[in-house]
Amino acid sequence: MILAMVLLIGAVSIALAAPLLLRRLTDTSMAPATVLSAWLGSIGGAVFFGVSAVVVLLWPDHAPAESAVETLARCWSVISHAAAPWIIEAGAGLGVLALAAVAMRATVVGRRHTREQSRVRAYHREVLAIVARSRGDGVMWLDHPVPMAYSVGGRPGIVVATDGLAACLSVGEREAVLAHERAHLRGQHHRMVSVCAILAEVFPRVPLFVAAPTAVKILIELTADQYAARVTSAATVHSALTAVSDSSLPRPAGTLGLSNDMSLRLWALRTAGRTRWPRLSNTAVATVSMFGPVFTVMLGVSATAAVVCA
Ligand SMILES: [Zn+2]
Repeated sequence: MILAMVLLIGAVSIALAAPLLLRRLTDTSMAPATVLSAWLGSIGGAVFFGVSAVVVLLWPDHAPAESAVETLARCWSVISHAAAPWIIEAGAGLGVLALAAVAMRATVVGRRHTREQSRVRAYHREVLAIVARSRGDGVMWLDHPVPMAYSVGGRPGIVVATDGLAACLSVGEREAVLAHERAHLRGQHHRMVSVCAILAEVFPRVPLFVAAPTAVKILIELTADQYAARVTSAATVHSALTAVSDSSLPRPAGTLGLSNDMSLRLWALRTAGRTRWPRLSNTAVATVSMFGPVFTVMLGVSATAAVVCA
């Protein structure tokens, strides 16, 4: 029971406190990919520990990690064993009901999102097959004078650009724009946006999941810009974005386009820092965001138990 409570408190604290902390990170010079990792770690932590709390309550005897936790908090374990069995059973029953309701809602919403995404991809493939042409560079080019580029997720994903883009940008700027769109496909950004949208719909009152879609969309744009800046240069991405910033062409629904959050992106290109070991630091930040709150609660339980015992 102690372990279930620790996990549940950890999940709730991530869900409530994480958005406040993470929003502040977005306004700093920290690398966007690192902030994005913190968001994804927090989202994973809230889901994983919320589900784990119910699983632990349902475990027939003691869950595998429970004895370790109880060793840390022996005093609480006495209270736990003294608790009337009906309290644990009622908690487990409520947990199962809540989990079943969430699983059903997630299935319905997830299937609807998947269908919509498939429809968008099929539509783009059909239309592009007729009106666009390939020049052997992996990009589908549209004969349109307004500069624009966007990517459609899936396997394989598609990068679409207009002739207007090729006409109004230099070779380097065009390469920067295409690198940005390819970064969306390589980073599975469309999938991240979909998962966040599904969680926001399944948990409309949980602050972390409500805030995630907007924050993650902004961060993936900044991350793709950073990738493009590595392929070309920050100055090239900056001038490319400035050149296409007054493009009047609307971005197709269900795609990630060039015109999102332009002023923030120009600011981030000037200020965003670089991490020396990006993969390592992103993994570390995601791990801390995921496990940190539960570990903190566990420490709190141990400290309180130590005080009570003393
Ligand atoms: Zn983009």
